[in-house]
Parts: sequence; C-alpha cells; structure tokens
Amino acid sequence: MGPRTTRRSRQAVPRRTTASGPRTLPRISPQAAVLGTLVLAAAGLLLAAASGPGTVELDGGRYARNGVPIGDQALRGGTGPTALRTSSATPEASAGGTLDPEELTGYRWPQRRGARITSFFDWRDEGFLAIEGRRFHEGLDMTTGCGSEVFAAHSGVVLHAGRRFAPFMGFSGPLDRFYARLERREMMGALPIVVVIDDENGYHSAYVHLSEAKVERGDRVRAGDVIGLEGDTGNSTGCHVHYELIRMDGPWMTVTKELVRDAFYPPFVRERIDPLRVLSLKDRNAPALIPGVDPPKNPPRLRRSAQP
Ligand SMILES: [Zn+2]
Repeated sequence: MGPRTTRRSRQAVPRRTTASGPRTLPRISPQAAVLGTLVLAAAGLLLAAASGPGTVELDGGRYARNGVPIGDQALRGGTGPTALRTSSATPEASAGGTLDPEELTGYRWPQRRGARITSFFDWRDEGFLAIEGRRFHEGLDMTTGCGSEVFAAHSGVVLHAGRRFAPFMGFSGPLDRFYARLERREMMGALPIVVVIDDENGYHSAYVHLSEAKVERGDRVRAGDVIGLEGDTGNSTGCHVHYELIRMDGPWMTVTKELVRDAFYPPFVRERIDPLRVLSLKDRNAPALIPGVDPPKNPPRLRRSAQP
C-alpha cells in the first residue's frame, strides 16, 4: 500500500508475448508490479477492452478512470463449482467446519530461500476487497525471479490450472458476464495463469501470475511439489507469485464496489486469509524481507461477515 508498493522486482528478462493471446494491457505504473491482484488484472482488462487496447492507463492501480459501460448487474443463480458450494448460503457469518488458520498444519513457503516478499496481505488503496469500506491486498506477493519454481504450499488436489480460475475462488455467484465480455474481445489470454489447489482442509490456495502451470486439474500434489513457474501473466509488470489463501466456508468479504459495478464481479467472496497466519517469517526457508516492505502491524482482519 502507498509508497511501499512502488517497490518491485523488475527482472532483466525480456517481456514475453503469450502464445495464447495478445498482450493488450499497456505497461503501467510501478505499483502494479507488486499489486499482483489477479482480479484487479481482469478489471484492468475490462477497462482496456472498453476503450480499446493500449489506451488505458491504470493510474497507479486505480482502474475506474473511465466510465465503463455497465450492463445488467443481476447475478443469476450459480452454475459453477463455486456456486455449488455457495449458492445455498446467504452471505452471513459462518463458523463453518474448518479449523482456524492458526490451527492448520502442513503449510510451507511457495518459494524458497532466495525469494523476497514484495507485498504483504495489507491495506491498500486500490485493493480488490474491502473490510468495512477499507480496501486491501488479499494475498502475499513474492519473487525469486522470472521462471523460478513455484511450490505447492500444502498438499492437495489441483482444481484448476489456467486462466479461467474464478469459479474456484469462492465468489458468491458466477462470473459468466465477466468472462463472456473478455471472450467477446478475445482477451482471455491476457488473464493471469493461475493454479488453484484444494488443500483438503476447507481452504483453497491460489498461485497467480505464473508463466506456466506444471500441474493439471485432478493432479494430487504434496507440499513442496513444483506446481508452476513464476511469471508475470495478467496485470503485472514484473515477475512474482501472488499467493492467496481462501477459507471456502468462511464468512463473506465484500468486493470493491467499483468492480462489482464496472466489471461484473459478484459482490461477495469467501474470506481471504493472511498467509502469515499459516506461514512463518521465522521459517528458515522464508523469503527475505526488502527494506521498507515490512509486515503490517495491523493486517486486514474480518471482524464480522459482510452483509448484503
Ligand atoms: Zn498480490
């Protein structure tokens, strides 16, 4: 958040052009390098789509510069896997059946020594989610360098490897309109490559901005297995991994209202967990800190579930 997000890990590696789609997003401000927020990425894409490739500046991660044509916001009943898990639930506090993050075991860092943390789970003005109106970055960003290995943080089963990952991210409804619009504009290839793993403890782990996935849907992985390579797919101006932990039966958090309005996101998403609640900076394999990018003293924490 703020100035600290200007730190980035620009690597001396040439930009790739993905085979699966044109790079339509203009390179943007340094903040976006460590933003890493996959869904912000998609929101940026929608804005780009609205006004034509190459014409949008995200202005330090603020993506609502232009009025994007807004269509029907009504969310239909769920149809995807996420909807199956959530459609019968109203957004309300749920104790669920899962253990609290501090009780979970078996987590290890998705990158090893040599990695650096470029952004924490922390308050951020341009965050994708909000708690009581205050926006935050809902994952932890780290980098070892473009093409470096990314490891499963926990054992589990691969739910998804690729770009159409949203159904596995705990949204309160489908993202059909979101995807339909990207497909219409042939911009799916500009979404990040994401691996989502069911950690089989009620939580999902998502690994975002990969240059390549090394696993496929249905694969069983153990903690420490290579699941992909660090990249900068999606809205990212430097290679890094955005690691996101989702409590799938947890309470609801609110999606930033501008994104609901402009980019057709469902209004709620299952609780995002600060990865530092399952991973320790004191672990000998923990990534290094960068001066000025410090763990937040008061990280975002949901006190009560968002209500519709
Ligand atoms: Zn991130």
